Formats: sequence, structure tokens, C-alpha cells
Amino acid sequence: MQRHVAILGAGPVGLDAALACADAGRPFTVYEAADTVAAHVRSWGHVRLFTPWDLNASHRMRTHLPHAPTGEDCPTGAELATRLLDPVAALPVLAGRIRFRTRVAAIARTGLLKHEQIGTPVRAAAPFTLLLDTPDGEDTAEAGLVLDCTGTYSHPNALGPGGIPAPGERALADRITRTLPDTGDPDRWAGTVLLVGAGKSAQSAARDLAALPGTRVEWAVRSPAPDWGAVPGDTLPGRQHLVDASAALADGANDRVTVHTGTRVHALRPLGEQVGVTLTTPDGPLEILCDHIVALTGYTGDSALYRQLQVHECYATGAPMNLSAALLASAGGDCLAQPSAGIDSLRTPEPHFFIMGAKSYGRLNTFLLRTGYEQIDQLAAAYAEEAMLLSTGS
Ligand SMILES: Cc1cc2nc3c(=O)[nH]c(=O)nc-3n(C[C@H](O)[C@H](O)[C@H](O)COP(=O)(O)OP(=O)(O)OC[C@H]3O[C@@H](n4cnc5c(N)ncnc54)[C@H](O)[C@@H]3O)c2cc1C
Repeated sequence: MQRHVAILGAGPVGLDAALACADAGRPFTVYEAADTVAAHVRSWGHVRLFTPWDLNASHRMRTHLPHAPTGEDCPTGAELATRLLDPVAALPVLAGRIRFRTRVAAIARTGLLKHEQIGTPVRAAAPFTLLLDTPDGEDTAEAGLVLDCTGTYSHPNALGPGGIPAPGERALADRITRTLPDTGDPDRWAGTVLLVGAGKSAQSAARDLAALPGTRVEWAVRSPAPDWGAVPGDTLPGRQHLVDASAALADGANDRVTVHTGTRVHALRPLGEQVGVTLTTPDGPLEILCDHIVALTGYTGDSALYRQLQVHECYATGAPMNLSAALLASAGGDCLAQPSAGIDSLRTPEPHFFIMGAKSYGRLNTFLLRTGYEQIDQLAAAYAEEAMLLSTGS
């Protein structure tokens, strides 16, 4: 009998996994916490991807949707959701398969604790139990294969030194923006913004905030000499533009933007409507008063979800150990040039449980949609082999 597949998250990778199940004739259910597909992508819908349509749709999506957008244009997150992922979700093969407003709260191996039946066939044969938060209250579901495609965007990292919250950060949590600011309404960002982080999200925010005449940006960057993730001879123009724009801001191209390199956030405290922030800079402490704080210090997936499973995580990245080792071995350079790590790198000691998509990269920020779709290819091939063995009784 085919295993029932539970796909956690209806982002691009979860939807591609759903198509792979439909194509293979496997029973499956997609559990999505939000009331639409692509909820994370929509929350950065105003941001333009730096990869073009040709890289953003999987071959399965293109087979099911022959008129899916193609070409070298780079969509925004909103366009990716409405022009590709909504139509995928509306395909008849996915009808009734996506349970919206259903958050998976925890996963267990039915009847077995984390430390029991280590590496035995008993563990591998036991189904999974999912604890679900639904609009009608708690519920449970069973599955024989679980794909955790829940992404990372709802779990931002702290902005304090060494990745822990800076003193004052937790108390001011509701005054800190941890998603990419939408600068469509300039008044929303009037005054002084403290921007923290140096990755592509922070660089996009810096570029957009710098364009607002009523906004002053104090940009705190940890590295004393950031290279902004420059890729020599970059073939993705959008990514190269960001690097160039960030370097120009660091060189003083915009007098409303100050880039503080080699700088950490030491502490925050409320000062009426504003927040007082102490920065540790190479020249000593610096006090600034800001109206907004935008912390874009990365995201890491929610490992609490699989706490009761036997998942071997990398101590450095939080990604599944084998995948992390492969990624660290090829670290640096262009994420487009990353070799595909293969199905064995996706396996964890917990049989039939896989972390896929952006979450599979842990703290590493080099994940691309293309990689997620390749992961689904690898998994589909591995389980097609299993199905064949089952059908021939070997
Ligand atoms: C600003 C930004 C720009 C990016 N630009 C590019 C780019 O140009 N090119 C590129 O290839 N990649 C890009 N990426 C990286 C990556 O491709 C995206 O993060 C992509 O959305 C990852 O897809 P995913 O399906 O793995 O996860 P997500 O898109 O994060 O989807 C996860 C889904 O799971 C749901 N969910 C979360 N928790 C639960 C739960 N407990 N139970 C049920 N459902 C849950 C969420 O609501 C969401 O719908 C970008 C990322 C960001 C943040």
C-alpha cells in the first residue's frame, strides 16, 4: 500500500511536492497554516526576485500549466503567487488536497518516543501522527511520509550580538519590523530607521528606504569590510544591482544613509514614541534615536516541529546534517552554481521524514527555488523505486 504523504506548507516547494504526489498517484494532503497558498511569498510580495520566470517554475508546474510565465523577466513575490502558484493550487489534481488554516503544531512517530527503536524496522514501519491547529480546534492526522516544507520566513533571527536578543529587544518586539519593509507608503517610514543586517533582504531594504526623501537610515552592518555577497561575473543582474547599490551607499552616495560597518547592536530602550539604541562601533559606543527598527538578520526554520523525531541537525547551521556538510563543503560563491546535493543528503535518521525547500538550508541563505524543485525530483525518484519494489514484492 502507498504511504499517505503529509506535505507541510503550501509554498512553492510544498506545491511542487503535491504535484509530484499527484503525478505518482500517491495519496497526499497539504497542510497550510495560512488561508492562501504561498503565504510567505505574499508577505514579501512587493519585492522583485532576482531569478527569472524560467528558473522559478518547476518542470512539473510547466507540464500542468503549459501557459505558465516564461522568460528572463524577474517577477515580484506577488506576481509569483498570483501568476504561477495560485494557478497551480487551482489545478484539478490538487482539488480538495490542501487544508488551509491548518497549522501543524508537532510531529511524532505514533507510539514511539524520540529515543526509542533507534534505527529499527519497527520505527520505520510506525506511522507519523501530526498535531494540527485548525479553525475548529485541535485535531490529529496520520501519515506514512512527511515532507516539512514550512520555510523559514516566520522565524526571524534576533538582532543582538552573537544572535541572541539584545537587552531590550524582547520587550520592544512589537516595535521591530522583521520582514522586508514595503515602502509604497513613504509616510509609514518617515523619520530615522535603524536597519540591521547585510544580506540580500537588508540590501533591498536599504535601497528602498534610501529612496524616501523623508527617511534617514542608520545601517548597522557586522562585517568591518562587507563584500555584499558579490559574485564575480554575476549572471543575475538584479543581484548585481543590489551589490552595487549597497557598495555605493557604504561609499556615502546618499547623505540620508549612514552605513556603520564593524557594528553590533548592544542594547535598546524605549524613549516615548522612539527607541534609543546603543551600537558598538569600531570607534566605541554610539547612541542613536530612531523611529523605526528594521531587523533583517536572517531566518531559520522552526525545529520545534520535529523535536520528537530523530533528526540529526548540523550544530552550526541547523540544516539536516548531511545536507549541511555538503553545503558547507561548497560554501561561498554563487548559489546558482551550487551542485545538487542528492537524495542521501536529504535523509535524516528518522525514516520517511524529510525537511525540504528553504527550511532544508537551516541558517544558510543561498537557497533557490530551483534547488527546492530538484529536491522534489530526487525524492520522487527515490519513492518511485520504493513503490516499484513494493509492487513486485521484492
Ligand atoms: C525576500 C526574499 C526574496 C527571495 N528571492 C528569491 C529569488 O529571487 N530566487 C529564488 O530562487 N529564491 C528566492 N528566495 C528564497 C526562496 O526561494 C523563498 O524563500 C521561497 O519562498 C522558499 O519556498 P518554500 O516553499 O521552501 O517555503 P515558503 O515559501 O516559506 O513556504 C512555506 C509555507 O509553509 C507555511 N507554514 C509555515 N509553518 C507552517 C506550519 N507549522 N504548518 C503548516 N503550514 C506552515 C507558510 O504559511 C508558507 O505558506 C527569496 C526569499 C526571500 C525571503
